[in-house]
Amino acid sequence: MTVVTRFPPSPTGFMHIGNARTALFNWLYARNMGGKFLVRIEDTDRARHSEEAVQVILDGLDWLGLDYDNTPESQYANRGRHIEIANELLEKGMAYKCYCSPEELEQMREDAKKQGRPTAYDRRWRDSTEIPPEGIDPVIRIKAPLDGSQVVDDKVQGRVEVKYEQVDDFIILRSDGSPTYMLAVVVDDHDMNVTHVIRGDDHLNNTFRQNVIYDAMGWEKPTYAHLPLIHGPDGAKFSKRHGAQSVEEYRQMGYLPEAMRNYLLRLGWSHGDDEIIPTKQAVEWFNLDHIQKGAANFDFAKLENLNAHYIGEMNAKDLIEAALPFFDTKPDETAITRITAGIEELKKRSKTLVQFAQEARFYVSAPTAYDEGAQKNMDTEVLEALKTTFEALEDFTPDGVMAASKALADQIRDGKLGKIGMPLRAALTGSDKSPAIFEAAAILGKDETLKRIAQALK
Ligand code: GLU
Repeated sequence: MTVVTRFPPSPTGFMHIGNARTALFNWLYARNMGGKFLVRIEDTDRARHSEEAVQVILDGLDWLGLDYDNTPESQYANRGRHIEIANELLEKGMAYKCYCSPEELEQMREDAKKQGRPTAYDRRWRDSTEIPPEGIDPVIRIKAPLDGSQVVDDKVQGRVEVKYEQVDDFIILRSDGSPTYMLAVVVDDHDMNVTHVIRGDDHLNNTFRQNVIYDAMGWEKPTYAHLPLIHGPDGAKFSKRHGAQSVEEYRQMGYLPEAMRNYLLRLGWSHGDDEIIPTKQAVEWFNLDHIQKGAANFDFAKLENLNAHYIGEMNAKDLIEAALPFFDTKPDETAITRITAGIEELKKRSKTLVQFAQEARFYVSAPTAYDEGAQKNMDTEVLEALKTTFEALEDFTPDGVMAASKALADQIRDGKLGKIGMPLRAALTGSDKSPAIFEAAAILGKDETLKRIAQALK
């Protein structure tokens, strides 16, 4: 059997982090099993449909590095097939037409509430021999079993049993002839040969209804794994007030796809105490047995630390390339050479690509302004002395610059190297925070360093 998983998002205009995790788990399972990972766009809500919203999802998958093995399907495009199955169920006597008016349904709901019945619709058309009323377009309802119970052996939730009295004769085709989500999902999953449905546990209830359709058609049911929801750090449902909700936002904040994958993997799945699990390793290890049953709390600090880790692991070329969108001024070749030379220091100071670009900024261009901290450190006497010292310095290497600065500190600032370093930092970076400044000066080179000192003195 070839494992086939699927990711069927509804295009809402952004890719929620929970959806990204669902996609990742499906992708990992397919890759681990040597199976297929398929994408289907659940685009049946035509009123709200837009192609841009579909693109956002595909871009999200692409950025996350989750490649899929099909041309993404459109659920809306499959509606003919859904209608065909609804009619087939009708012919088999597994479904029936219901002519209830909205008022009748409302009445039934009220009655059910009063009597404490779990399902509202009283199945009045199920075995009816009444002549259908005129002028009413019927809906088609499935005939759910009346007795006994259904058991789902969920890979995450375990054995879940639901009495059929809890499962109503739900609608599969609306009165306007459009298929419902419940029907469309089952038909599509069946037609796509989906073997494993891995999705959020907000869909667990749907499973018992969807299985009724599988059984009615005599189709083999998929294996289910319902993932617990993601919660905020405080344990409440994850929401905007906790922080960014969408993949695009994390991308804009300078997170790496590799860090996102690692973080989202750990958000609900574990491999012993391992925290750092590169994707290659994850593909090897992933299974459905170690998905945690309880909700996972989002931990921003953990994500940031993982991001810092993967930034540290990257080579200079890839890192600079990944950070390019975050530079105000695009680094030219000289800048790239400098950033490459200073890369280790820059990495240590960067938890995100945004920070990296910020930290590397002074390698790209001379400061156009001096922040408050820099202004406080602008000791002109020291800068004048540095100018003279550096002009005469032949060994303009990190060690050479350091030795000359130390000598200068001994001479004019009681050996306090900071009193030399801070003005230099202000002149070179326009700030009071930066990577090790004597090394940075050497990387900028003698000419550029002298130019910036002269500019600061002006
Ligand atoms: N379109 C559904 C959603 O975005 C997915 C349904 C499913 O996984 O079966 O929640």
